[in-house]
Order: sequence, then structure tokens, then C-alpha cells
Amino acid sequence: MRRSPAVSTIQQHITQHAQTGSPRPTLDVDRSDAEYRTWLKEAVRKVQADANRSADTHLLRFPVPEQWGIDLYLKDESTHPTGSLKHRLARSLFLYGLCNGWIRPGRPVIEASSGSTAVSEAYFAKLIGVPFIAVMPRTTSAEKCRLIEFHGGRCHFVDDPRKMYEESAALAVETGGHYMDQFTYAERATDWRGNNNIAESIYRQLRLERYPEPAWIVATAGTGGTSATLARYVHYMQYDTRICVADPENSCFFEGWTTGEPDVTCDSGSRIEGIGRPRMEPSFVPGAIDRMMKVPDAASVAAVRALEHAIGRKAGGSTGTGLWGALKIVAEMVAEGRTGSVVTLLCDPGDRYLDKYYSDAWLTGQGLDITPYVTAIDSLLETGVWPG
Ligand SMILES: *Cc1c(COP(=O)(O)O)cnc(C)c1O
Repeated sequence: MRRSPAVSTIQQHITQHAQTGSPRPTLDVDRSDAEYRTWLKEAVRKVQADANRSADTHLLRFPVPEQWGIDLYLKDESTHPTGSLKHRLARSLFLYGLCNGWIRPGRPVIEASSGSTAVSEAYFAKLIGVPFIAVMPRTTSAEKCRLIEFHGGRCHFVDDPRKMYEESAALAVETGGHYMDQFTYAERATDWRGNNNIAESIYRQLRLERYPEPAWIVATAGTGGTSATLARYVHYMQYDTRICVADPENSCFFEGWTTGEPDVTCDSGSRIEGIGRPRMEPSFVPGAIDRMMKVPDAASVAAVRALEHAIGRKAGGSTGTGLWGALKIVAEMVAEGRTGSVVTLLCDPGDRYLDKYYSDAWLTGQGLDITPYVTAIDSLLETGVWPG
């Protein structure tokens, strides 16, 4: 066996001392660094203090006819300081990276992100005083890049979304920085057993409702981390709630989950920002998910527009994807005469997408006709019947 020079030196050292009969010295390498530890303590304190200053996000009601005996809720993640559910993820990833000794003073943090994660991570990087570089698809909305730069981050664009990962890893090597890798670490950096994660918060907020244990929670998947946390928490707490993931058109989570094939890929990037991936991301935990739906992009847009009619709030496309799935489940419950509650997420605010999901010109340019889906939602809310 070939040994590295360090190992053979150590071996020599041991053999020499064994021959002389004197007590073997204890091999001892101390790399503790007081200055770094002071920095680390401060950085962790700043991230924790940010959480401590924050209030919980609201659980909103989506109005449906009272006589159905069904309540539909949206966990409003758009009210975090950085405007999306990625604030939770960024906090967890920074704590994980700091506590693992991966994030170091003066070294950049690099992330592959379609936008929202980068916005939140830029915020935390600035908070602890390290540089931040976002590697993102060129199609990302201009508003998201503006937000990243607003928080002191830098945007690095790639033409092929599938190249985001290797480009990020290469940048980390080049700069001596840390590639955060949300797609790998989202599920494990998040405290799925509790610690006021999104699931624990939802159940606490449902406590005084008439159906405090939802029949279904409908999530969407970008990293897959949110759905993994929801599902693990539900199983851990022994609830009967089922977890559904609604997947947009250009994404392979649905196919990967239904076929059980972890290596599926798809070519074009998702039009629904924040969700839909060209590969089965490592943070997506298929075995924990009960059900998956493939939602047409036009249906996602119809649903976010219906949300504005219903509660006066605009949201991003992924909220529409989840809401479409939740409405479909509500329609099934109505048809079967079942009562209960359904929860989905309001993932980020609509003002980031005025030139996309709220623009009819964009819809036309994309060849998307939302009319049949708008009609379907109207029909459900008026008559309880879901066409098709
Ligand atoms: C990331 C993201 C999601 C999905 O969350 P994951 O935990 O990454 O699966 C949904 N909507 C938006 C806007 C997102 O940015």
C-alpha cells in the first residue's frame, strides 16, 4: 500500500520510539484559532439574533363556501425579511455552514440559485460580513438580481441552467470560498423535528381551528427541502396529514417520483421561478411524499391570479402551482362529501413578477392560455364542481 508522506513520517516516528523503549509521544495537532472562534461566535450570534427579531409568518385563509365544511389556508412565507420561504433555508444553511467550519471570515459564499435563495443568502452574507456570489440562469427576473445586488451580492449568469452546479463549485475553488449547495444540503440543514420550522409553525397556528390537523398539505419543490421537512415532521409527530407535491411543466420531480428513477433529467428550464428542476435534486426525499401532481404552467398562473381576486394579494408562480393542487384536492373532498382542512404555501410576493405572471404580453409570448384554468377555478368556487 502506498502511503502519503505525512502518514509515513508519522509511522517512522512511532517505529523509532518503539525501538528505544521510551514512552511514545502523543501525536497532537492543535489548529484552534482564537481570532476565528471570536468571529464564528459573532457570526452565529448575528444569524440567531436575526431569527430572534423576527415574528412568525401568518397562516392566511383562502375563502371557500362555508357550507362545504372545508378550510383552505396559505402559509404566507412572503413576509420574511427577504420576502420568501428561502429566508428559512438561508438561515439554516448559514448556521450549518458556520457550525461545520465551512464558512470562513473573508471567504466568499457561492450559491447556485434561480434567485430567491440567492436573495436571502446575500442578506445573511452581508449580515455576517462575507462576500456573496450568486450563480444563476440568465432568464432569472431582473428584479431578483437587483435584490441580490441590493444586499451586496454579485450575480454571475450561466446560459444553461444545468451548468449552475459545476460553475458554482469551480468558482468556490477559484476564490477559496464555500459553495453552499442548497440542492444537496437543504434537507439536512433544516431542523425537521421542530425548532419552529415551517411545519411546526403551521400546526401551532392551526390549533384553534375547527380542523387543526390538515387532511393535506400541498407543497412545491425547488430543492425539495420544504416538502421533506413537512413530510418528516408529520411522520415524526404521528399525524395523519398527507403530503402532496405539485410540480410544474418543465421539471422532472414528478417523473422521477412516479417511475422511482433517480437519474431522470429534463431539458428546458422551468418557467415557474423557484420550483421545477432539470434533475432529481438530492434534497428531494421521494419516499416521504404521499402524492405528486403535474400542474400545467397556465394553471399555476390562473391560480395566482385567482388568489388576488380572493384575498387581494399577488404572489409568485409557485404559489399558484401549489394553490392549483390544493384546489383540486378541495374539489375532491367536496365531491366525496368529506370535511377537513388543506394547507398550501404563499412562497414569495407577486411584485417580483409583474412582467411575468401578471403580464398578458408575457403569457402570449410564452403561448400560454390561462382561460380554461380561470374558468375551472371560478366554477369550483361558485358551484363546487371541478371541470375535467
Ligand atoms: C425554493 C422555492 C420553492 C420550493 O421550496 P424548496 O424547499 O426549495 O423545495 C417554492 N417557491 C419559491 C418561490 C421558491 O423560491
